[in-house]
Amino acid sequence: MFIKKIGIDLGTANTLVYIPEKGVVINEPTVVAVSLDENKILAVGNEAKEMLGRTPDTIVASRPMRDGVIADYRVTEAMLRYFINKAVGPIRVFRPEVMVAVPAGITSTEKRAVIDATLKAGAKAAYVVKEPVLAAIGAGIPINEASGHMIVDIGGGTSEVAVISLGGVVACTSARIGGNKIDQAIAEYVKKKHNLVIGDRTAEEIKIVIGSALPEKDEQEFDLRGRDLITGLPRNIAVKSNEITEAIADQLREIIQTIKSVLSETPPELSADVMDKGMILSGGGSLLKNMDRLITEATGVPCYLAEEPLLCVAKGAGIALEHLNVYKRSIMSKK
Ligand code: ADP
Ligand code: MG
Repeated sequence: MFIKKIGIDLGTANTLVYIPEKGVVINEPTVVAVSLDENKILAVGNEAKEMLGRTPDTIVASRPMRDGVIADYRVTEAMLRYFINKAVGPIRVFRPEVMVAVPAGITSTEKRAVIDATLKAGAKAAYVVKEPVLAAIGAGIPINEASGHMIVDIGGGTSEVAVISLGGVVACTSARIGGNKIDQAIAEYVKKKHNLVIGDRTAEEIKIVIGSALPEKDEQEFDLRGRDLITGLPRNIAVKSNEITEAIADQLREIIQTIKSVLSETPPELSADVMDKGMILSGGGSLLKNMDRLITEATGVPCYLAEEPLLCVAKGAGIALEHLNVYKRSIMSKK
């Protein structure tokens, strides 16, 4: 089968590629390795992530989408080319149509840059759609109804909150807070409280395994090894769930604040709809234990976790590509 349509979720943490009728075919970290000497792109995705923190001075492995906006045009084009080539394979009869999810707060210049990069990377046509809209489509929300739907996507670098009605974004905010800052807060806590230095990956593991947005009666424990701040030698300690809940409270509060700010700028009719139906959570950060309960308690609006939160945006891109006509109101631009 020749691939004609490709949906791409260029996330701050992970890039997913979706092909209609096949599903998610690529799921790799959004990391690029560049050599400073020759200014060349050495690796993208899994291979580049292996280099993070392990490179000599002449190679930098970076996350180009760190804050949800494209930092470097050339790097973005290389990434798109890599993912499109990998999805399509070596035999190309048709150039594919490609849909890319972009942050809702994107400027028109940035939008143009994404379209140009997609076309240069080998697409026949490039469609750009706002990420929360695709997350909503992927979560199965009927976005074309004349009714307000709220979606909260908590990613690695950013959290995006949007109210959608009639296929368009009515109110939205993107905040530079997400899983990465939560990991940093955990590392910071372990350093201050236990005098132990741990890496980002360990911090993320602690979060995923025992982290919780609300304190729990039945606490879990996590054994970890780090480097003693004073002696410089390895040392083992155990941390408990409720310590972690406390360590990440400020970051969670910031996410709640972002949700509240969108609620406060939503027109009354639409917020009545949202109160009625509740909001939908997507993105990897929404998988933090008790995140839905915390948001419900803090906002008074019922909160539901989407099915497969990490895949919503990519799935939404695939669905929108298959039904371009149904979702034409949501497509920001096409070329
Ligand atoms: P992006 O769209 O920005 O690439 P993702 O939606 O892929 O981000 O989410 C990545 C974030 O989700 C990371 O910070 C990761 O640590 C976090 N994450 C993934 N699984 C879990 C989990 N089970 N619990 C808490 N956080 C998680
Ligand atoms: Mg995302």
